[in-house]
Amino acid sequence: MAVVLGIESTAHTASVGIVNEEARVLGMASDMYRPAAGGIHPREAANHHVELFPDLVARALAAAEVAPRDIAAVAFSQGPGLGPCLRAGATVARTLAQVWELPLVPVNHCVAHVEIARILSGLDDPVLLYASGGNTQVIVHGAGRYRVLGETLDIGIGNFLDKLWIALGGTFPGGPALEAEALRGTELLPLPYSVHGMDVAFSGMLTAALALHRQGSPLADVAYSVECTAYSMLVEITERALAHRSRKDVVLGGGVACNERLRGMVRAMVESRGGRVFAPPRSLCVDNGAMIGWTGLLALRAGGAVPIEASGILPRQRTDLVPTPWRADRP
Ligand code: AMP
Ligand code: MG
Repeated sequence: MAVVLGIESTAHTASVGIVNEEARVLGMASDMYRPAAGGIHPREAANHHVELFPDLVARALAAAEVAPRDIAAVAFSQGPGLGPCLRAGATVARTLAQVWELPLVPVNHCVAHVEIARILSGLDDPVLLYASGGNTQVIVHGAGRYRVLGETLDIGIGNFLDKLWIALGGTFPGGPALEAEALRGTELLPLPYSVHGMDVAFSGMLTAALALHRQGSPLADVAYSVECTAYSMLVEITERALAHRSRKDVVLGGGVACNERLRGMVRAMVESRGGRVFAPPRSLCVDNGAMIGWTGLLALRAGGAVPIEASGILPRQRTDLVPTPWRADRP
């Protein structure tokens, strides 16, 4: 059975995952760069990745109990992401592919979130709500590609939560800490609800939430109100995508999809429309090498291997620029 090794390094997480043709994760090793203060510094994150990758590769191989000769290809995140971080992962992937004499398969990071959720869910043609640090997109397949129907007009929802938490005196990552704080909130404070057609924006809410806190609103109520308002915006655009594209089912992806309140709100909306909702386990919701390996395996079968000269990173590679020859269009 073919086995693919996937390398993820778009932002703060360096990860190596090994998957087989049944999308079973045979072995995975990950490590997250955590800045002492402030947000991600791309160069420092890349240094972290460079330092850790040799050990992560060894650990993933050991956990999977496979030798390089058992591997069919090396896949890596080509984009979108932070240039220095992407370059670190791509360099490791090229090196392994050359040394092990294996095909090299570039993978779009956002597409990988969709594909791992799709195979694990068993749902054939779901809408994906991809809510991560840097990305916030509602994605549906159509005419040979994944199409972005709606997205953030400014910052990703995770970055918004992180920025807010750091400005309130906390440390990265802010999402899980805000989630815990929000559980104690009781009052829904007014915040800008910023949906523009299929798109959303968060920077106005960031300013308003900080102002509320400065004016004396309890932290728990600010956190609760931010979660309720921001997640309602995501639920609204996801529901609109379902309605307009005649879909019923939703899969979730990205680190913010670990959030229980978001999961519950999406579930309530989807089930009220008679659909099913699926969120991968946390280890496969956040950035991870397994989803890159799995998508690399799909791409490999469809002829997606490239020569090293054509394996340059694409920090701004959009979801809808990547053909999906492994996937038939809905009739
Ligand atoms: P990713 O970019 O997909 O690896 O996800 C990282 C982002 O997910 C960061 O912005 C985190 O703050 C956010 N995040 C992780 N867990 C949670 C959670 N339980 N609730 C909200 N945000 C979260
Ligand atoms: Mg991601």
